[in-house]
Amino acid sequence: MKTIQRPLFLTILICILLNSCKSEQDNPIPNNTTTGTTTTGGTTTGASSGTDYSTIMTKAFTDYGSKSVSSVTVDGDYLVIKCTGVPDHKSPYFKGTSWENTLYVNDTRSGFKVNPNIIASFSYTFRIPKSPKEATTKKTLGTATIGIALNGVPLFNQYAAGNTPITVGTGEYVSFDLYGGHPAPSSDYHYHIEPNYITEKKGTDALIGFLLDGFPVYGSKENGKTVASASLDAYHGHTSATKEYPNGIYHYHTTADAPFINGNGFFGTAGTWAK
Ligand SMILES: [Zn+2]
Ligand SMILES: [Zn+2]
Repeated sequence: MKTIQRPLFLTILICILLNSCKSEQDNPIPNNTTTGTTTTGGTTTGASSGTDYSTIMTKAFTDYGSKSVSSVTVDGDYLVIKCTGVPDHKSPYFKGTSWENTLYVNDTRSGFKVNPNIIASFSYTFRIPKSPKEATTKKTLGTATIGIALNGVPLFNQYAAGNTPITVGTGEYVSFDLYGGHPAPSSDYHYHIEPNYITEKKGTDALIGFLLDGFPVYGSKENGKTVASASLDAYHGHTSATKEYPNGIYHYHTTADAPFINGNGFFGTAGTWAK
């Protein structure tokens, strides 16, 4: 019996030791420095490892206080945002709508060409992960809608109709109004580029919204410097501490050049949107 028990005991001890080593590798203690999180072999550690950020996310919408956002609630693993998509700022695309008297503005910027569409109100529901995590397999962008700005207006990807990449100063770009948005033929107002009404109000380095994967989107500046597209990864983001996420988080940045908000797909796993 003793000759059997000893190896068994040793085996169990070795298993315990091995498992504790393994679990340390799988769940390293997040570092608390301002450099934020580290990524090793596709596993993001620290603040991107599944912390519940629903309080931070909800506060971002309620602090902004857009009338277009009717509710922000938590449902299981998701933050559920209900909104109309009607911008909280003026636009030439309010002409001929019930908001014309208060929200229409004649956009006189040189180079601007109004498109034939007008703004309408919708019942959008965005369900985005409250504990965003890096996806093991990154998915490319499925539809035009990639996220939601704090004012309740959808964020779109960098492609015009027919999957043509949008380029500065030509094509669809010239129909972006003074606040960077325009309505689709279906009347959904949206931004493909920085929603500058929000950054003019909150600052060019401010949190401006979230992509469908639950990771936040910030403006074009960080620590007083313009963020260059070249300094960001293929998804148009990077990891560092931010005002809202002092322990560090993966986040996207808007840039003046393409792809403007998001790059080649989501860093995390996208939630859903419906209208
Ligand atoms: Zn568009
Ligand atoms: Zn950043």
